[in-house]
Amino acid sequence: MTRWLAEYAWLPDRAEPTRDVLIEATDGRLTAVTPLTGDGPPTAGVEVLDDAVRLPGLTVPGLANAHSHAFHRALRGRTHDGRGDFWSWRSLMYAIATRLDPDTYLALARAVYAEMALAGITCVGEFHYLHHGPGGTPYDDPNAMSAALVEAAAHAGIRLTLLDTAYLAGGVDGAPLTGPQRRFGDGDALRWAARVDAFGPADDHVRLGAAIHSVRAVPAEQLATVAGWADRNGLPLHVHLSEQPAENDACRAVHGCTPTRLLADHGVLGPHTTAVHATHPTAADVALLGDSRTRVCVCPTTERDLADGVGPVRRMADAGSPLSLGSDSNAVVDLFEEARALEMDERLRTRRRGHFTPVELLGAATVGGHAALGWGDAGRLAVGQRADLVTVRLDSARTAGVPPAGAFFAATAADVTSVIVDGRPVVDGGRHLTVDVPTELRDAIAAVTAKEDS
Ligand SMILES: [Zn+2]
Repeated sequence: MTRWLAEYAWLPDRAEPTRDVLIEATDGRLTAVTPLTGDGPPTAGVEVLDDAVRLPGLTVPGLANAHSHAFHRALRGRTHDGRGDFWSWRSLMYAIATRLDPDTYLALARAVYAEMALAGITCVGEFHYLHHGPGGTPYDDPNAMSAALVEAAAHAGIRLTLLDTAYLAGGVDGAPLTGPQRRFGDGDALRWAARVDAFGPADDHVRLGAAIHSVRAVPAEQLATVAGWADRNGLPLHVHLSEQPAENDACRAVHGCTPTRLLADHGVLGPHTTAVHATHPTAADVALLGDSRTRVCVCPTTERDLADGVGPVRRMADAGSPLSLGSDSNAVVDLFEEARALEMDERLRTRRRGHFTPVELLGAATVGGHAALGWGDAGRLAVGQRADLVTVRLDSARTAGVPPAGAFFAATAADVTSVIVDGRPVVDGGRHLTVDVPTELRDAIAAVTAKEDS
């Protein structure tokens, strides 16, 4: 058994953190979560705490990053020297994609996932579509790129939901894949399913999920095949949705309806489905998502970076869609920033304050994300849950003097001092215990961008 003594811990159903909480775990599961002080006298003597690891600051459950494309991290800081939009950014992203193979992707993803661990992310959902070799030729192991991501997460010490993504067409009209996109394609949804069926990672830190890249990339008549595969296997299903108005326009032109309506009509929506972005839904779309309890993953730092816009997040939550958060393009890896952006973006839109409580922001960053990724046993500091503990210091230049309940409005990823995943320490004293993150990021990114910068 391992014991930790948290100076403050944010327990389920509490409006604010609790002081002096003893947390115990065996075999990676929480076995006791005990406030020691509170209103009455301490419930345990000091002598029994000698073996408890002190966690000064605020301890929260592990953060879940529900939407990532690990390789986009190589674009950070390289896309700001001109005008442009999502589509010009996408051209740069494709240039990186052409340089990756299973070895370079392992090195890059390992460093990126270790950066996530440093930020308190204990579980990531990788929306993975870079499946095949140059020109679309499968590797000898057609799941070699997936295997690289699984190994990368293991090295970084975090859990992974590999959202194997069907990417079959170059547009809503079903145009064939061209150029770099050919590496993403399996031909059709049945062949996509056959490839994923052949991939059976047995490691404890990984689970599978399915993804539909978008209505741009999976023809309407094949949507149900992907959704049915996820449903039969009881796995989460994710889909990019209405990130750009152009997607809505193209879908209306070809199918006469919004992307959300198209997904609803083909059985894609539901409580096991997560719509990523949902930045430009109609009022009817918001109702379709909410009534079906479809989850919504918002990625505010990427949406601002790509000039996507701001979605009606509060309305979607009120309509019935549970929220989660993603770092998406990894231009920023900081779930504190993503969480407070939910509130800040609503303030900018409405010119009013007070849309989300700190507990709602914490929930989106923790239990909401884990649920979206198929880990219903993570994201809360409660007995039986996975022993994921993330501690944020309250004595940095950013957080000193901040009440613990205000941490989500003040802390950054750099304030994370300790990360424990499934009971195992991964980050201590603000340092990753096994990966030299800055050095590995520098080298892995140099390997895939050398020609780009020359
Ligand atoms: Zn994405």
